Amino acid sequence: MNIVCACPSCSAGIYQSHVEKSVSLTCPACERSITIPDNAIEFAAKDAQPQLTRCLICPSTELFVRKNFPQRLGVGIVVVGLAMSCVTWGYRDLFSTFAILFSTALLDVILFFVVPDCLTCYRCGSRYTGTDGMSEFGNFNLETHEKYRQQAAREQQSTRLS
Ligand SMILES: [Zn+2]
Ligand SMILES: [Zn+2]
Repeated sequence: MNIVCACPSCSAGIYQSHVEKSVSLTCPACERSITIPDNAIEFAAKDAQPQLTRCLICPSTELFVRKNFPQRLGVGIVVVGLAMSCVTWGYRDLFSTFAILFSTALLDVILFFVVPDCLTCYRCGSRYTGTDGMSEFGNFNLETHEKYRQQAAREQQSTRLS
């Protein structure tokens, strides 16, 4: 199992593979050590892939499944395709225009199927790949997301006031 998360102390990006084999994560920037909580990782069988029961970084147990695919890349592909098709359209090259539009759309579809799923924590945004039992968590839920967003806003406000 791999994790991509932000350090709780300094927000630097942390990436670590084979998390199930370690007891803690270390931030490369501030060297803070984050202990992986007991029972956070389970194994359905001896040789099975590790399964998450909760987030490793924050106390949240709510995670959602999504494509491990940067949304900006998907949008970027479409934007580049559109820009290129405008150029060919300007030259009255109908065939190239449609060929470009079609292939950029196709590329997005292919990427969507090729890119694996990852688990994301609602609360802290940590992402996990290479885990089993993802279906237990379900897809993105706006209500849950909103709950954590408001909670984070309240926490920020109270630290500002104190
Ligand atoms: Zn750090
Ligand atoms: Zn979390």
